[in-house]
Amino acid sequence: MQKVVLFGECMLELRQAPNNLMFRSFAGDVFNTAVYQKRAFAQQSVSFMSALGKDVISQELMQNCQQEGIETALIRHSAHHNPGIYLVQTDEHGERSFLYWRENSAARQMMKLLDEEVRQQVCSADLFFFSGISLAILALEDRAVFWQFLSEVQAAGVNIAFDPNYRARLWTSPEDARQQFALAFAASSIVLPGIDDFATLYGLHDLKDVVTFCQPFNIQELVIKNGPNSVFCCTPEGEFSLPITPVKNVVDTTSAGDSFNGVFIGARLAAYDLKQAIQLAASAAGLVIQHPGAIVPNENFTAVINEQKLVFEHQAN
Ligand code: ADP
Repeated sequence: MQKVVLFGECMLELRQAPNNLMFRSFAGDVFNTAVYQKRAFAQQSVSFMSALGKDVISQELMQNCQQEGIETALIRHSAHHNPGIYLVQTDEHGERSFLYWRENSAARQMMKLLDEEVRQQVCSADLFFFSGISLAILALEDRAVFWQFLSEVQAAGVNIAFDPNYRARLWTSPEDARQQFALAFAASSIVLPGIDDFATLYGLHDLKDVVTFCQPFNIQELVIKNGPNSVFCCTPEGEFSLPITPVKNVVDTTSAGDSFNGVFIGARLAAYDLKQAIQLAASAAGLVIQHPGAIVPNENFTAVINEQKLVFEHQAN
């Protein structure tokens, strides 16, 4: 069984509901990726590595993972911290804004709670996935522990996949993010950025410039998401661009990149070739943006993915 460990933060998501009530759910970039990978490739072992608290919300979050089939053995529990929270507000023009309470969240404690079992389990995985947000929330004094841990994981032969997912407000400065990302690019064999990450952080707007920037690193699969325009893929064997069929009814683009990542890494582990993995990932993302919130109803999602998988199987026969 293919085994993937995804390291990041999951938060309680609150959303306005009628009559001054709130919808509540759980989300976070890496967690979303884990959910969509598991939904698309149920036969793979998908493990979420994070820290939660010992509170009632943490318990619900554990149950939520279990309902999604995500393994929780690499989740640690801090006695003094609780999960982060964010509130999504939508104004009268449909513009969304986000308010966060995550500065003191349990997930930030993960490196302090890293134990031998977690190290061993990650070192025996097929793939380890993390994002720029996983990095941004680490306390400065914990960074050295993370990079040492990652080098052990890499030395154990685990494939490493990274999405920069740059969020300026989580970093003390752009230079700090650039320094940390350079270490992540150097360690990763799969890199899944959005073109916006490079535009905002490095002033690189052109795909070719991004590819040139990434050349010094030993990236085996650089897959650049370019919204509704295209996905550009660069490997040591060559490069290609795949067109995206733009969705007409975009409701909420939250989690577009996350769902793309989850389905892409699942598909690659299931031996789909690069083009098919990208096509499957793009169908997933195209569906997710037609629903509100980060996590869409499961029936809609698996139906679309299974249909697309059948098309590929049909083509292969
Ligand atoms: P990120 O969320 O990481 O910034 P993108 O905005 O590029 O990444 O979106 C991720 C993926 O979602 C794209 O590669 C594409 O497959 C899909 N996607 C995004 N916007 C659209 C759209 N308007 N129509 C169809 N697919 C889209």
